[in-house]
Amino acid sequence: MQFIDQARVTVRGGRGGDGIVAFRREKYVPAGGPSGGDGGHGGNVVFEADANLQTLLDFKYKRLFPAVDGRRGGPNRCTGASGPDLVIKVPCGTEVRHLKTDILLGDLTDSGEQLVVAFGGRGGLGNAHYLSNRNRAPEKCTEGREGEEWPLQLELKLLAEVGIIGLPNAGKSTLISVLSAARPKIADYPFTTLVPNLGVVRRPTGDGTVFADIPGLIAGAAQGAGLGHDFLRHIERTRLLVHMVDGGSEDPVGDLRVVEQELEAYGHGLVDRPRLLVLNKLELIDADEREEQRQRLEEASGRPVMLTSAAMGQGLDRLLQSVWAELGV
Ligand code: GDP
Ligand code: MG
Repeated sequence: MQFIDQARVTVRGGRGGDGIVAFRREKYVPAGGPSGGDGGHGGNVVFEADANLQTLLDFKYKRLFPAVDGRRGGPNRCTGASGPDLVIKVPCGTEVRHLKTDILLGDLTDSGEQLVVAFGGRGGLGNAHYLSNRNRAPEKCTEGREGEEWPLQLELKLLAEVGIIGLPNAGKSTLISVLSAARPKIADYPFTTLVPNLGVVRRPTGDGTVFADIPGLIAGAAQGAGLGHDFLRHIERTRLLVHMVDGGSEDPVGDLRVVEQELEAYGHGLVDRPRLLVLNKLELIDADEREEQRQRLEEASGRPVMLTSAAMGQGLDRLLQSVWAELGV
């Protein structure tokens, strides 16, 4: 299974600056020659792979990327300033395609790798260029050219870094939906009814982290019931698990055990993965029983327990702080 982030953007190279018509005016030089300078070139748009980015989240908000235009030529054969390149950071592994034709323009794999995605237009020529024996005072100059403009499709294969586990109804999907800033797509979905829920959550540093609700981690899942192997491999690659327990359950400790046993049975080191324990739906627990419930879960699990209400948005800031601390971001 692949989790795929996609974005559509338009990139536009800067327009070239115009050439100009000008003549030298100097003392004691009665008929100064043509001196109009050339326009500067428009800036290119360049993609650069950056290992610090994990998602295409930024492209969900900004879609047009125009580089700066070149400046007009000046008198005295002065060439106008060229527009600087517009360098846009993309995550390593980003594939760039032409939107309409689907032609692959490039695949940015290594950090620092660059790809010019739109060339700026050339600057126009000033009249100094048209001086000839036949025409000592040319009035001709040319305009700068437009920069290239391309609609692009960006694609990135994502890795879920945070897996959310827990019995059905614990609030996993709700948590992802309230935290997420974007929803990536799942490609090539295998024939199972278990559709993972994905969300990109914005980190304090700006980029995103992928959270995946792992729906199959219920009794029997370790034997492979209903789960594609690709999916299991995806779970194995998460760096952190958030285990949600339903606070409205009759027996939260029993629920905790079921999932812990499942992790154990699944093997592949999942039981040793860093894990945060969350007692959700706190508002369903009487206020004076919350501490007691929390302590009971802490004793049963040997871990600190955070109280949240995904539905009411309570305790989520603290939960995220712990997630970022565990991931080291
Ligand atoms: P999942 O099966 O773990 O994905 O659980 P869902 O996110 O689908 O939630 C199951 C039910 O619990 C839904 O009806 C949610 O609206 C509800 N729910 C989720 N979080 C909370 C919460 O914090 N408080 C309350 N009262 N209900 C919640
Ligand atoms: Mg769900």
